[in-house]
Order: sequence, then C-alpha cells, then structure tokens
Amino acid sequence: MGDFLGHLSTINRHKYRVTKLCFRCGLYKQGLLHDLSKYSLIEFKAGVKFYQGNRSPIDREKEVLGYSEGWLHHKGRNKHHWEYWLDNARDGIKPIEMPTRYVIEMFCDRVVASQIYQKENYHDDSALNYYLNGRDHIMIHPNTDKLIMHLLTYLSEHGLDETVAYIKTNLR
Ligand SMILES: [Zn+2]
Repeated sequence: MGDFLGHLSTINRHKYRVTKLCFRCGLYKQGLLHDLSKYSLIEFKAGVKFYQGNRSPIDREKEVLGYSEGWLHHKGRNKHHWEYWLDNARDGIKPIEMPTRYVIEMFCDRVVASQIYQKENYHDDSALNYYLNGRDHIMIHPNTDKLIMHLLTYLSEHGLDETVAYIKTNLR
C-alpha cells in the first residue's frame, strides 16, 4: 500500500509540475495531456511494483527484468520522448527529427524529474548533467540533440526563469 500511494503521489506531483512548466512555455494542450498514460493499468502496475522514491521505477524494472513493459507502453504513446521518434526503414532503425514543441515538453519533463528526484541537491545544471550522462547511448536526431543540449545548457547558465523567457521569445 505504501508503494501504491508513493507512486501515485510521485506521478501526480510530476504531472502537476510539468503541466505548470509547459503552461509557462505556452504549451497548454501538451501540458494537460503530459504523461497521462502513466495512469493506465500496465504502466501504473509496474510503477508500484518497482517503486523507488528517488529514481524512476522503470530503471529498476529494467535492472531486474532486462526490459520494461510499462516503458514500452509509455514511449510508444508520448511524443516528448526521443524514443517515440525512432522509425525503421530498409537501412535500419533511424531517429526522426522531433518537432520543436515536443523538444520543449521534453525539456520541461527532464527539469521537473531532476528537481523531484534530486530534491535539495538539484541545481540548474542537474538536468544537463543527467542528459550528458546518457548521451553516448541514445539514438536521437542530431537537430533534436542540438536543441535539447542548447536549452539544457542555457538553463545551466541562466536559470529557469530566463530559459522560459528565452523559449517564449525564440521558439514559440
Ligand atoms: Zn513521459
């Protein structure tokens, strides 16, 4: 029961804060729809079973099982994840460039996730460092990589308020 409520409160808190940050960036519809599939049975069940409190249950599920059914369900439905944009053609699997509005949502998602999981250790460069940490192992379109790197670097140097202002004037 503790993990049920713990997971529910984590995803509620995460969703509420991503929605707020998306609104600040002018993304109203995406803000409201963000991560709704986390409330589906398949994703929610895995979230409770592999509940951690200080990091994503999906990472734990992958450690234990080698894969995550909840994640396969999630990334196939949520366009703010670069994994959604992988397509396969005759020459193999290749990343498609993400529309800017989804890169902005990905930015909001990563900032809030870093804030929630790192608590008092969160700094303006936390989300950038997290991205850099995994960057060698991902398959993301070069233009998408360039834009998310730019936003996360801007955040690390100027803080969140200035980055939101930058997004609103330059990207929306
Ligand atoms: Zn998501």
